[in-house]
Amino acid sequence: MEIYGQHITFPAYFCQMNDLPLVPYEKEHGIRLFVHLTNRCNANCEFCSNASNRDNQSDFNLDTFRQTIHYLNEKKALNGVSFSGGEPSLDISLLNEAINIVFDELGTQKQVAISTNGTHLADFLSLDHLNNLESIHLSRHHYLDEQNDQIFKQSMLKTEELIQIQSQLKNKHLLIFNCNVIKGYIDSIEEIKNYMEWADSIGIHKCAFIHLMPINSYCKEHEIDTQAIFTSTHKNMIRMRSFSRINCCCLDGYYLTKENRMMGYYTRTRDINIPCNDVKGLIYTADNHLKTGYGADATHFF
Ligand code: SF4
Repeated sequence: MEIYGQHITFPAYFCQMNDLPLVPYEKEHGIRLFVHLTNRCNANCEFCSNASNRDNQSDFNLDTFRQTIHYLNEKKALNGVSFSGGEPSLDISLLNEAINIVFDELGTQKQVAISTNGTHLADFLSLDHLNNLESIHLSRHHYLDEQNDQIFKQSMLKTEELIQIQSQLKNKHLLIFNCNVIKGYIDSIEEIKNYMEWADSIGIHKCAFIHLMPINSYCKEHEIDTQAIFTSTHKNMIRMRSFSRINCCCLDGYYLTKENRMMGYYTRTRDINIPCNDVKGLIYTADNHLKTGYGADATHFF
């Protein structure tokens, strides 16, 4: 596909279950646009891939953003938009306006999601399109409030506040908890189950467990083999699908909680032997540039 005069190659295959034959990717399916609304963040995680940019002030331009969304939509290049940062909720009115632009341009048929560390989660209740969002991914790396604060090096949302907010959400599936698997914190199947029991007590229906990417010495020292954990058999856990697109590996399933409720889980593991070269998404940066990301070497469009 040509985007702003440059050729990009979409993934060759869709993710496929287990060992089913791979299905060729259709260009019309599009890829996801990840929008970094700001580089700033109020937390200070050791594993942050954005650490060198965290204090950068940026000037997100809504007009340029609208033109870009319009252009990419006309090209049929998008299947969804995810807002992240930095922390996108630091300027909630900017986040609201940017989301409104996406729904104006794309309608309500594409998936729109937000990733947040949750410090301003209560403000999300006032978003105009709250009930049209596909998901809000809340980074929450431990079920104990104090341990979670320790990881973020910041006072974060407490369990009681999460219960309050979840009770006010109309769509009870909207919030998904994202937990990094970190040595010394959530680092074993027992701790993963403890985490899902805690999430269930809040009324959450899905948790994601993410393998630390080896981007610095902290990540290397605290890396846990999530692949070994999640491909083993565990009581009350049913593995539904193992996805594979030649060079990535995800897996999902259900956990039966002590209260006899089903908790969905998803995990993204890492196979260190396989290079990752697919262009899996586009990135709109906080300083109004568009590039490819997450996989292949970046192509810069403007
Ligand atoms: S919350 Fe996210 S952006 Fe902020 S420091 Fe942690 S990893 Fe980085």
